[in-house]
Amino acid sequence: MKYSQTFIPTLREVPGDAIIASHRLMFRAGMIRKLSNGLFAYLPLGLRCFRKVERIVREEMDAIGSLEIKPTVVVPGELWKESGRWDSMGEALLRVKNRVGADFVISPTAEEAFTSIVRDELSSYRQLPLSLYQINTKYRDEIRPRYGVMRGREFIMKDAYSFHTSEESLDEHYQAQGRAYRQIFKRCGLTVIPVKADSGAMGGSGSEEFMVESDIGDNTLLLCKNCDYAANVEKAECKSDYITRPSPENARDAINTPPVEKIDTPEVKTIDELCTFLKTDAKSFIKTLIYKAVNVETDLSSAPGCKNLVKNPTATGAPVSYNEAFFAVAIRGDLDINETKLAAVLKAAEVSLAAEADVVRITGAPVGFAGPVGLESVPIIIDQTVTGMNDAVTGALEKDKHYRHAVCGRDYNAWLTADIRTVKAKDCCIKCGGELYEKKGNELGHIFKLGKKYTDSMGVSYLDENGKSHVPLMGCYGIGLDRTLASIIEEHHDEQGIIWPVSVAPYHVIVIPIKYQGSVQEACDKLTCELEEAGAEVLLDDRDERAGVKFNDADLLGIPWRIVVGDKNLANGMVEVKRRSEKEAHLISPSEAVTEIAAAIKM
Ligand code: ATP
Ligand code: MG
Repeated sequence: MKYSQTFIPTLREVPGDAIIASHRLMFRAGMIRKLSNGLFAYLPLGLRCFRKVERIVREEMDAIGSLEIKPTVVVPGELWKESGRWDSMGEALLRVKNRVGADFVISPTAEEAFTSIVRDELSSYRQLPLSLYQINTKYRDEIRPRYGVMRGREFIMKDAYSFHTSEESLDEHYQAQGRAYRQIFKRCGLTVIPVKADSGAMGGSGSEEFMVESDIGDNTLLLCKNCDYAANVEKAECKSDYITRPSPENARDAINTPPVEKIDTPEVKTIDELCTFLKTDAKSFIKTLIYKAVNVETDLSSAPGCKNLVKNPTATGAPVSYNEAFFAVAIRGDLDINETKLAAVLKAAEVSLAAEADVVRITGAPVGFAGPVGLESVPIIIDQTVTGMNDAVTGALEKDKHYRHAVCGRDYNAWLTADIRTVKAKDCCIKCGGELYEKKGNELGHIFKLGKKYTDSMGVSYLDENGKSHVPLMGCYGIGLDRTLASIIEEHHDEQGIIWPVSVAPYHVIVIPIKYQGSVQEACDKLTCELEEAGAEVLLDDRDERAGVKFNDADLLGIPWRIVVGDKNLANGMVEVKRRSEKEAHLISPSEAVTEIAAAIKM
């Protein structure tokens, strides 16, 4: 392809909002242009790279027996109402009406569409397992699209959905998808960190995210210095460092604790102030926060303060569901509550701190004096760390009052004890006890065991060999192609521009004549032909530009090989070959250049 016949509008300047390298370089290299906030058009060069990523993804999906289909992007709102997500998806879901007033959504993901297609065709266990995928447009009305195509509103996702008769079969395909993901990212030249992820409120039983390390990543990852444990902070667990619950051997600790005592703590507002006031540390304090949870799918019929809660019929087949419920959540004073874990424990769609008025109503005191002792208006959930606190300080449900010497099981009882702690750097690995450290990560892919969430709510069934009806299990597996492409640039660039891995490069070779005329022109044309015959994709820079301009553009575009053809070297039968990733060029004959490059691109 001759450069003069392409459309590669390179730029020196970049828009002010392009703060990360991939965003800047995709603009500067003429790969993308912005149509509106979060909406990007791919120009020819960008699309060439995009197609390479797409091909890798497609090959790896095909290799594990997932079958490609092409559903529509516009999907009937009815399906989303059946799954319950018409209401629960919030503002990210773009809802539209057609001319006769029927509801539609612009797919942000496609569980509903795939489940509906399978529901209509599935009758027998013989049709399962079945794995289907698409590589198709998604739209999410992101509040803050940013970093170019990393977080756009419209983007392309590969999303696969699988259907199974058993946990084993689901697990087998889930593992195969995980292996395919590792292979996809490896072929793209990406270093990914697979991490354990939350699968809570979706009702799934396993979930893994594929992250790349990134300063602008939205995710905090916890990794072990000692073993391969890696988890999203939403899910991360750590070895307990709490004193064990009073058992016959150490019961004396609790027995020796003096009776619980209410004390005056005037003008003491923060935990720090309280620690100074009582000459203790935050580890002796039970921090209690009042939470509101919505769409709770946990049976609260025997929970304190929940007798009058209104129960709802459930979309997902859960036994009970409540629109909203309040909880007191207690944790050791030096730790933080992990809201994702809390939501998962409660099977709630969402949890958030209760409004001030609700705190006052529930605790009978201003904000800051909640505590489990004497609290009966809502169920008390305690983190595991609290169970072993045999002599704790905590709010006394009264302004300027605290209790001391509080003992779990003696002075208050938890409705539920769970791991709801946010794990931090320096905590101990749950697997090996090693020290954990933190990294920021950006999610490129996500695999998820959904269980029966959609197949139940949307009424999918099949008959087993005895004619008995069952609901299939389901998994879903997504990769963002735009984000993957941008991440490749993040990992492969320098001051001058992009350094494409061969597998996703827009062209393999750029041939640069010092001046495209006479014998140089002839040699370039011949070289281009020979390279193309050897399977290389070649960009011939035939523009009437200074050599320096062409070199700069070649560096910016990041094409893996550069061959410079000039009079002087040509007179000696030589051309200058340089890899974009290397500093030094070498002189070889054109035919040797063809052999070298042909061999390298076949690897
Ligand atoms: P995030 O937490 O980054 O918003 P998500 O968990 O909502 O992502 P999934 O629903 O798991 O995303 O979608 C699968 C993949 O789609 C993500 O791993 C990511 O690569 C991609 N993706 C999601 N949202 C966007 C977006 N706004 N722009 C580009 N890619 C996206
Ligand atoms: Mg995700």
